[in-house]
Amino acid sequence: KPANERQRLPVVPLGIERDEFTKALAELRGQLGAEHVEINDKPLKDGWYMEHPNTHDMMTILDEEELVASAVVYPGSTEEVQQVVLWANKYRIPIFPISMGRNLGYGGAAPRVRGSVTVDLGRRMNQILDLNPEDYTCLVEPGVSFYALYEAIQAKGYAHMWIDTPDIGGGSVLGNTIDRGVGYTPYGDHWACHAGLEVVLPTGDVIRTGMGALPGSNTWQTFPYGFGPYSDGIFSQSNYGIVTKMGMTLMPNPGGYESFMYTFPKEEDLGPLMEIIRPLRISNILENVAQVRHVIQALAALGQPRSKFFTGSGPIPAEVVHAAATTATAVGDYTWAYYGMAYGPAHIRAHKLALVDAEFKRIPGARRVDPATLPADEYFWARDRVAAGVPDIHELRWVNWTPNGAHVAFSPVSPIRAADATALFALGKRAHDRYGIDFFPAFCVGLREMHLIVEIVFDRDDGAARRAALDCLRDMIDEAAALGYGEYRTHLVLMDQVASTYSWNDGALMKFNERLKDALDPNGILAPGRCGIWPKRYRGRGWEM
Ligand code: ADP
Repeated sequence: KPANERQRLPVVPLGIERDEFTKALAELRGQLGAEHVEINDKPLKDGWYMEHPNTHDMMTILDEEELVASAVVYPGSTEEVQQVVLWANKYRIPIFPISMGRNLGYGGAAPRVRGSVTVDLGRRMNQILDLNPEDYTCLVEPGVSFYALYEAIQAKGYAHMWIDTPDIGGGSVLGNTIDRGVGYTPYGDHWACHAGLEVVLPTGDVIRTGMGALPGSNTWQTFPYGFGPYSDGIFSQSNYGIVTKMGMTLMPNPGGYESFMYTFPKEEDLGPLMEIIRPLRISNILENVAQVRHVIQALAALGQPRSKFFTGSGPIPAEVVHAAATTATAVGDYTWAYYGMAYGPAHIRAHKLALVDAEFKRIPGARRVDPATLPADEYFWARDRVAAGVPDIHELRWVNWTPNGAHVAFSPVSPIRAADATALFALGKRAHDRYGIDFFPAFCVGLREMHLIVEIVFDRDDGAARRAALDCLRDMIDEAAALGYGEYRTHLVLMDQVASTYSWNDGALMKFNERLKDALDPNGILAPGRCGIWPKRYRGRGWEM
């Protein structure tokens, strides 16, 4: 047989005999249908973003076999998800739910515990259950991607409603939201924009949160809180339940929009720029989650390998970056770029844009780039689409920077201040220099905070490059925590470390999380270790990494 059809001996979850596992899978086949239970016994194939694997992380930073699934199952309804959960409890098999598994940079589709059974919800549960043109809301299943939601709205002719999409639009709306991902319109804080969940608990019970708990309520998607404790929070970035439905609010079409880009010449402009951005952003003159990016990313966004600009080892020198930006990009050279968007009809935009222009031009050498001078495939237009809620995949191009390109992110949160921006920039730069890695900083400005997103691009087939990327990330997490900065989200492999930095009062928050875990999931079957939360059965047994 050709290599890609030959069998691999599938991994079996630790603590279960192979025969017992085989028997358990046969039982599940009887319940879900044989075609909805797949053993992971073929060689691992990475594919690419749109044809990504659900058995492992296609951008692995460890050896690919370390975080692999033993099998993948495809429930077709909430009832079938309940059956899978009851089955997992019966055999004490760890299960790991994914919506679509395109969580690249944060672990992709990989489970945290090797040999877990992946519950791929998105394959069969992929309906938009409601699209409400009066309330501007929708109710989605896990398999609805940003593309699918966008296309459904266009197909219905609901031009008055916009969605919000992250940088890359192929992922699940539900999966991204419960992982607290962000997008770039005024509705960019996805978690804040959701309303109502349906959740299968680790014991197999089903709940609906908020107004969904009131039978016959017509406000499940319009009033997020309902009555009593607001439970939704514990189902985001956790392992307390499998979310099978989620309500989402949609943005009204603002009646016009206009992207703008400013460039700033010097590295030292970062601090003053942050001081200018903060009041404008908090007062909503700067209306969207905007990005401040370093010019090296403009080079990478061309989609060319780094070797086209530099063939030496170690980080690409600053002079080389600036020279290449001058010759190879339509925007030309600079150090920082601000990508933003003004919303509304022209006369309303004009007022806001004039204020922004006057403020930004206080920085010597600040330049407003005229979009009319930019070719159609310039990165600016990708930012333009994303900030207008149009799903896109242009952002993937910078993964070509290295051969077998993969990426993994360091994402600390800070206030929008000169001191914080410069401290984090210096910290990231030092760590990247130490490991000889190119530094790709992008500050995503929320409202009162910003996420610094640093994507390390590495050759996933090169063990030394993977090791360097991981060591660099681990250093940055510890060094940032020592200065009081924490990550808003992290890769599977780094979850224990990041969770351990949230240690106030002798780790009181993790103790609370563990009590919740033990109460909700007494057998510890659901996504053990995700976000650093280990069930009792696993604690103190060396699972952390
Ligand atoms: P994407 O939206 O990028 O395709 P994933 O489906 O990979 O993202 O989801 C990101 C992470 O969130 C997963 O690794 C998983 O841990 C968690 N997750 C995703 N969907 C669910 C769900 N429906 N219920 C519980 N956890 C989920």
